Amino acid sequence: MNDQIAVDVLIIGGGHAGAHLAISLRQKGFAGSIAIVSDEHSLPYDRPPLSKAYLIGSMQIDRLLLRDSDYWAEQQVRFELGCRVRSLDPAGKRVELDDGRVVRFGWCALATGGKVRHLRCPGSDLAGLYYLRTVADVDAIREGLRNGGRIGIIGAGYVGLEVAAAAREMGHEVVVIEAQPRVLQRVTSPAVSDFFERQHRNRGVELRLGEQVAGFSGEDRVSAVRLGSGEEIPVDLAIIGIGIDADTALAEEAGIACDGGVLVDEYCRTSAEGVLAIGDCARHPNPFAGGLWRLESVQHAMDSAAIAADTIMEAPTEYRALPTFWSDQFDLKLQSAGLNKDADDIVLRGDRENGSFTVIYLRQGRVVAVDAINNAKDFMGARALILKGIAVDRAKLADISVPLKMAAQTDRVAS
Ligand SMILES: Cc1cc2nc3c(=O)[nH]c(=O)nc-3n(C[C@H](O)[C@H](O)[C@H](O)COP(=O)(O)OP(=O)(O)OC[C@H]3O[C@@H](n4cnc5c(N)ncnc54)[C@H](O)[C@@H]3O)c2cc1C
Repeated sequence: MNDQIAVDVLIIGGGHAGAHLAISLRQKGFAGSIAIVSDEHSLPYDRPPLSKAYLIGSMQIDRLLLRDSDYWAEQQVRFELGCRVRSLDPAGKRVELDDGRVVRFGWCALATGGKVRHLRCPGSDLAGLYYLRTVADVDAIREGLRNGGRIGIIGAGYVGLEVAAAAREMGHEVVVIEAQPRVLQRVTSPAVSDFFERQHRNRGVELRLGEQVAGFSGEDRVSAVRLGSGEEIPVDLAIIGIGIDADTALAEEAGIACDGGVLVDEYCRTSAEGVLAIGDCARHPNPFAGGLWRLESVQHAMDSAAIAADTIMEAPTEYRALPTFWSDQFDLKLQSAGLNKDADDIVLRGDRENGSFTVIYLRQGRVVAVDAINNAKDFMGARALILKGIAVDRAKLADISVPLKMAAQTDRVAS
């Protein structure tokens, strides 16, 4: 870019959401100029394998890329990598980059994602403590793991448990420390948490649940995690996975409305004209949640990018996508759809002992969410029931000899 440049669409952030906005625009026939500014040094890549195959070493960097450089060149999407947008002026339709250059835009999309939450406690600046968000983070962790040893993982959410599984598969001793009384508490029911706890323990992961981290001990490098009780758990390296916060700094400084995320409407429009927000950084009205929601998933990044592309193309469509998530741990695939927060009934389908079962969440007799473990068929069946919004027969849901698509009590569509 020159010192001053003008683009039709400027995308801030080259993660899943930013990349998919550019891809979606071109697929829909957008012929204007597109630029993506990313403070990472790599072309857009897939984050989920970072805590799975890429950490283990069974997937290399070239396979992480969402599209190769030839694709971006053919599609005439221009990149500024290793470059940060330091300020945004929505009214003046311009941004300033950290090297002082100015980019003028017709449309701007904030796709700034999330920032890892940091643990602030005594010893939290010791060497040997890692966070995991980027490919550079995982490269550093892999380097740290070379000497083997005992790995402490702080946080038993999706990322913490995936890293625990990967580290066990790499032959490390693993201890997971979680403040909540059960794993995956934020996202699932006790039945699913209990299953994953048993699977991890059976495979040699030590779980310390309901334990607060008070600090880290060590001379210049971490040697132990100190719990609130004063107990010291020896570790050679610790990985902290306690969640992310939406990266709203740029939007807030620009005067754009934010509240736990950049606030957008169902067309991904922010409070500033011509500025959209998509992916992990955005908080949107979700028809399945019944309120404003911020989702952290590849599916949402892609869905919201497609909606933003429609808005830019002046063919607006409302965001109505069903939230879906997945997590891979050992040989277990957890697939989830819908949001279970207001469920008033739960049906267990299948046998937890054989490692393939489904938990179906109901509200007023209708399916609102599902967690399927190693059961893609049930996942698809339950997903269809959520989308149809029809009343279901509880006994049929629980009976594995009845396909989920036959579980409807009536074909009346919910009002
Ligand atoms: C280890 C890991 C495992 C995951 N596993 C799964 C999974 O199994 N399934 C699933 O659905 N989801 C998973 N996710 C979540 C999923 O990857 C995210 O929801 C998705 O990547 C969000 O995409 P995004 O583009 O909104 O944000 P990000 O991918 O966070 O991209 C935002 C980018 O913007 C850059 N940026 C921010 N501010 C600026 C600025 N001012 N200037 C320039 N650049 C800027 C950031 O550095 C970043 O590169 C996982 C995430 C991680 C980290």
